[in-house]
Amino acid sequence: METDGAGVIDTSPAMPTIDVQLCSGCGRCVAACPLHLITLEVSGFRKNAVIKSPEKCTLCRQCADACPVAAIILNMTGEREGNTTA
Ligand code: SF4
Ligand code: SF4
Repeated sequence: METDGAGVIDTSPAMPTIDVQLCSGCGRCVAACPLHLITLEVSGFRKNAVIKSPEKCTLCRQCADACPVAAIILNMTGEREGNTTA
């Protein structure tokens, strides 16, 4: 943890997370990621997108832009990214 003299700066890297409750397993984010960081995993009767190496993510947003249900969260505030307003 670093400080700038005025307060604490959170230097934690922003990492993408996927809301498995929203994810339909459509695979659009898998195809969209230029670094191939996302795969689909079977969980019971469902498929969910999983980010394999989130520390390599460049936060380019292409996965979030491709997701039809705004299941991908790309920032530390938890604000949803994507092409829906839900
Ligand atoms: S933000 Fe870009 S690099 Fe990161 S997981 Fe999504 S598509 Fe891949
Ligand atoms: S694009 Fe969205 S709904 Fe489709 S697999 Fe990726 S996270 Fe899930």
